[in-house]
Amino acid sequence: MQESVAFADLSRAPLTGLPGVGPRVAEKLAARGLLTLQDLWLQLPRQYEDRTRITPIRELRPGTTAQVEGRVEAVERGFRYRPSLRVALSDESRGTLVLRFFHFRAAQAAQFAPGARVRCYGSARPGQRGLEMVHPSYRVLADDDEALGDSLDPVYPAIEGIGPVALRRLIGAALDRLPLADELELLPASVLRPLRLPTLREALLTVHRPPRDADVAALLAGTHPAQRRLALEELLAHQLSLRRQRIALQARAAPALAGPGALARRLRDSLPFALTAAQARVFGQVRADLAQPRPMLRLVQGDVGSGKTVVAAMAAMLAVEAGRQAALMAPTELLAEQHLANLRQWLEPLGVRVAWLAGKVTGKARLRALEEVASGAAQVVVGTHALMQEGVEFSALALAIVDEQHRFGVHQRLALRDKGAAGEGVPHQLVMTATPIPRTLAMSAYADLDVSSIDELPPGRTPVQTVVLGAGRRPELVERIRAACAEGRQAYWVCTLIDDSDEVVAQAAQSTFESLSAALPGLRVGLVHGRMKPREKQATMRAFKDGALDLLVATTVIEVGVDVPNASLMIVENAERLGLAQLHQLRGRVGRGSTASSCVLLYQPPLSALARERLETMRTTSDGFEIAEKDLALRGPGELLGTRQTGLPGFRLADLARDADLLPQVHALADALLAGSPEVADRVVERWIGGAARYAGA
Ligand code: ADP
Ligand code: MG
Repeated sequence: MQESVAFADLSRAPLTGLPGVGPRVAEKLAARGLLTLQDLWLQLPRQYEDRTRITPIRELRPGTTAQVEGRVEAVERGFRYRPSLRVALSDESRGTLVLRFFHFRAAQAAQFAPGARVRCYGSARPGQRGLEMVHPSYRVLADDDEALGDSLDPVYPAIEGIGPVALRRLIGAALDRLPLADELELLPASVLRPLRLPTLREALLTVHRPPRDADVAALLAGTHPAQRRLALEELLAHQLSLRRQRIALQARAAPALAGPGALARRLRDSLPFALTAAQARVFGQVRADLAQPRPMLRLVQGDVGSGKTVVAAMAAMLAVEAGRQAALMAPTELLAEQHLANLRQWLEPLGVRVAWLAGKVTGKARLRALEEVASGAAQVVVGTHALMQEGVEFSALALAIVDEQHRFGVHQRLALRDKGAAGEGVPHQLVMTATPIPRTLAMSAYADLDVSSIDELPPGRTPVQTVVLGAGRRPELVERIRAACAEGRQAYWVCTLIDDSDEVVAQAAQSTFESLSAALPGLRVGLVHGRMKPREKQATMRAFKDGALDLLVATTVIEVGVDVPNASLMIVENAERLGLAQLHQLRGRVGRGSTASSCVLLYQPPLSALARERLETMRTTSDGFEIAEKDLALRGPGELLGTRQTGLPGFRLADLARDADLLPQVHALADALLAGSPEVADRVVERWIGGAARYAGA
C-alpha cells in the first residue's frame, strides 16, 4: 500500500518541479494535456531520425528522409522575392544536393564556406537543379570530426512554443525521475515473461533513449519489443476504457421497446421485396436488444447494398409503436436526403410522420421542424450533424441510429445519445457501417458495441464485373461509355492522382471533364470534386441521381453510400493508388440495380507487387469481409484503421493492424483486471487516457 502511494505521488507530480519549467512553459505543456511527470514519460516518439548511417548523395531518392555528408561546392544568396540561401553540397558518390534556407542569420550563412564539411539530415525533394533539402537540420564538421551522432534521435509530436531541443531536454529530465521498475509496473510478470516483453521502465527508457546497439530497423518499424510492450499496455487501456463506458452506460435505464411489433411488420409487408435471411436475423437481434430496459449498443455491419436501411427503418418502427421517437443521422446531406426520401416513401403510408433537419434547413422550416421534434408530432427525424446541435430537443427519443459510423467520431455518437429526454433513460443506439472490419479488429475497435453482420446481398443482383487495364487502354473506354449511355445507362469516371492535394486532384478532374465532354459531344457530363461548394456538389449529384446527367466525372468524394441504381459502369483512374477498402466502397456505387454492371480499374504501369495483388483481389473478390481481411494482411502499419476513418481515438504508439497479434492477450488481460483488480484497471486507464473525465459521464 505504502508503495502505491509513493508511486501515485511521483507519477502525478506536477511538471513545475522540473528544471526549465516555469509557469509559462507549464502552461504550454498543459495546453497539450501534459500535466504530470507521467504524461511526459508517455509522450512517446512518433518516429526516429536515423543518424546511424550516411546515405551517399547519389543514392538519395525524392521523398525520402536521410542523413548525408558532403563538402560545400558553391553558395548563392538571393534577395529577389525574399532572402534565400542555397548551398550546393557534393560527396564522393559525385552526387550533388542543394540545401535551401529562407530564414537564416548572417553568421549561419558564413559557416558555409566552400570546402566546408557539412552533415545534414532532411527530406529530399526535386528542385530546380536536382534534389534539394529545405531547412534541413545540419552541422558543420571540423576536419577531424568522424563520430556519427547518436544512433537514433527520437522525434516527438511538436508542441507549440517549445522547440524540439527544449522538448527533448524536458522529457529527458522527466525520465531521470522514472521510479524503479516495480513501482511503475502495472502488468503482471506472468503476462510479460512469456511474451518476452520488458518492464515498463525498461521499455520507456529504450524508446526515448535508444541504446547504441538497439535494433534500428525494428525501432523504425515500430516492432521493437519495447514498443510492443508499450502498445500492449496502451491497447489494454483503450479496451478497458471502452468496456467501462459500456458497463457504465448499460447500468443506466432505457425505454424497453417490447411491443408486439405490428408496425414493423406492416412496414415489412409493404415493401416490394422480401427481407434476406441476414436482414431478418439482424433485425431479430436488434429487436431482442430493444426489448430490454437497458440501452442497446449495436453495430450493424453490412456490405454496400446489403440493405441496412430497411433494418434501421424497422427498428425505428419499434420505437414509434411504443409512442416514442427515432432519429437517423447520416454523415452527408446527400446521404441524409436519400434516407429521408426512402423513409418518407416507406413510412408515410403507415401514418408515420418523418421530419427533416439538416444544415440547409433554416428559418421558418427549421423552426417548424424543431417544433415537431420537441412536441413529438414527428416520430422519426432524419438529418445530418444538425441533429446534434444545441436547440434540438426531442420529446421522447428512444432510438438513435447513426449511419456510416466510420465518418463520425465516438464523441459525436455519444452526443446524439445525450439527446434522450430527461427521466426517460438514455436512448438505444444502432450504428451502421459498410466498412467491414476484420473480426480480430472489431473487438478492439468497437469494444463498446455488440456487432451484427448482414452478410448476404439481396437476390437478383448481378455481381459487378471488374477488369484491370493499363492506362494506355483509356481511349477504348470512351467507346464503352458511349455504348452504355446509348442504352440509357449512366457511368462514373473517378479521378485520383499521385498527388493528394485537393487542388491538384480538382484540376485533374476538371481537365478530364473537359476532355471527356469533348470526346462525347452527345452526352450530358457533370463534374464533382472536393473543391466545389457543397451546394454545387449536391446539385450535380442530384442531377446525376435524377438521370439528368449521363456521365459523372468525380473525385473520390462520391465514395459514401450514394444510391443511383441506373449507373452500371465505373472507371477508376490510377486505381493502383487506392487501398482495397476505398476501391471496394467506390465499386459499390455500381451494381445497385438489376442490370449487369462493370468496373474498370485503370492503372499506371509499372505496378508494384503489392498494387498488383490489390487489383487482383478486386478482380476476383466482391465480398467485403474477404476484402477487409485481405486489406489487413496487405497493408502496412497504421493504414487500415486511421483515426479519421473509424472515429477511434488516436493512439500514442499502438497500431491495431501492426499489433493485431497482441489483441487476444489484451482481451484476456482486460477480462482479468475488470474481474479481479479494478483499481489496477483504473490506473492503466488513467495513465494512458488521462483520468476519469473520458468515461465519467457515460
Ligand atoms: P446499404 O446497406 O448499402 O445501406 P441500402 O439500404 O441502401 O444498402 O439498400 C440498397 C438497395 O437495396 C436499396 O435500393 C434497397 O431498397 C434495396 N433492398 C434492401 N433490401 C432488399 C431486399 N431484401 N431485396 C431487394 N432489395 C433490397
Ligand atoms: Mg447505406
